[in-house]
Amino acid sequence: MTNDSTKSVHEAEPFDERTGSLTTPIYETSTFGFSRAEDVPIAVGGFGDKGYTYSRWDNPTVVTLEKKLAAFEHAGAGAAFSSGMAAISTSVFSFLKKGVHVLGIKDLYGGTYALLRDILPGLGFDTTLVESSDFGALERGVKKNTRIVYIESPTNPTLKIVDIRRAAKLAHTNGAVLMVDNTFASPINQNPMDMGADVVLHSVTKYINGHADLIAGASLASRENAHKIKMMRRDFGGTLDSLPAWLILRGMKTMAIRVRQQNATAMVLAEFLSNHKKVEKVHYPGLKTHPQHRLAKEQMKGFGGMLSFEIRGTTKDAMTFTESLKVGTLAASLGGVETLVSQPYNMTHTQLSAKERAQTGIPETLVRVSVGIEDADDLVDDFKRALAAV
Ligand code: PLP
Repeated sequence: MTNDSTKSVHEAEPFDERTGSLTTPIYETSTFGFSRAEDVPIAVGGFGDKGYTYSRWDNPTVVTLEKKLAAFEHAGAGAAFSSGMAAISTSVFSFLKKGVHVLGIKDLYGGTYALLRDILPGLGFDTTLVESSDFGALERGVKKNTRIVYIESPTNPTLKIVDIRRAAKLAHTNGAVLMVDNTFASPINQNPMDMGADVVLHSVTKYINGHADLIAGASLASRENAHKIKMMRRDFGGTLDSLPAWLILRGMKTMAIRVRQQNATAMVLAEFLSNHKKVEKVHYPGLKTHPQHRLAKEQMKGFGGMLSFEIRGTTKDAMTFTESLKVGTLAASLGGVETLVSQPYNMTHTQLSAKERAQTGIPETLVRVSVGIEDADDLVDDFKRALAAV
C-alpha cells in the first residue's frame, strides 16, 4: 500500500481469516504456551513471526502496531514502548558503548534534553548540545568518537528546521548513527528514513494515537537496528502493553485525515496570527516568512499542526490569552484532536535555565499551539476573542 489514508486503515491489519474480525484482536496475555518444546528456541529472539514467548519480549497486538508504524516510516521493523521517553532512552542506550560521544541539538524535547545534558554525563558519557539553526555548529560538534547524532525537526517550541539529509551525511561520514525524533511532523508529513536517518523516534502519545488518551512511544529502524533496540527493550522493560497498542491501532485509522486537516487549519491560523497587531512573531514552517521555509518544503510533505507565536506584551498578557480561549484548552502535550495551547516558558521548558530559554528563543510571551481538528473558522474566532482580552 502506498497512499496514507489507505495505509492508515488497512496496513498490517488484514481481516482475521479464522474469525472474520475486521479489527486486530487484543492479546491480553503475559505469557504464551507451547505444545512442542522444540518450538521454544525458535520463538525466542524473533520479531513475533516465529512465535511468541512472553509479552515483555513480543506480543501479537503490539507486533501488528510495530509493523504498521514501520510501514509508515519506511523502516524495516519497529519497537513499541510504554512512552516516548522509554523509546528514546532505550534506543540511545542501544548504541552506547564505553568511550562514546553523543552529539545533539539544544532544542530537544525536555526529557531528551535532560538525558543528554545530565543523565548520560552523570554516567561518564561525553555529550555536546549545539545550536539547532546553525548547521556549522553541528559539524563542529563532531568528535572522533561521536557515534550518535540526535536531532528533532521541526523543533519544539520554535519550529526550527534541521537539515535531515545533511545531518545523515555528517553522521555517516563520521561512523555515527543519526536518530531523528519525528513526533512534531508525524509520519504523514515527514519520513526521515528516506533522507538517511538510521532510527526514527516517536512519542506515539501525540499525532499517531491522536486522541490524547494514552502514553506510548516507538522506535523505527532497519531490521538489524530494530532488533538491537528490541533486545535492549527486553531487558530495560519499557515494552508497550497490548491494550494501549490496540487503542493506537484504532486511533491510527484516521491518522492521515486528521493530520492533513491539522496542516490546513494550522496554515489558516498562522496567517491570521501573522496579521494581528497584538502578535509580535509567528513560528510556522509553512509561512513564506519562516527563515527555513525552503528547507521545510524540501523535506516535509506537509508543514504540520504545530505553531507558536509571541504575544506583543507581557507574561501576564500571554496568560490572559491562554485563559480566555473557549475552544482551545490550556494544557501541555500535542497532536490530539483538541486544540491545546501552552506557555513553554513556564510549562514544558522549565528544565531549561532562564539563560538557556533565552538562548533557544523561548520568551515568557511565547504561546505554543497544537492545532486540533475543530473547524478553522471557530478557532480563528476563538483566538480573535482571546487576543482582544489581552
Ligand atoms: N519527543 C517529543 C518531541 C515530545 O514532544 C515528547 C513529549 O511531549 C516526547 C518525545 C516524550 O514522549 P512521552 O511523553 O510519550 O514519553
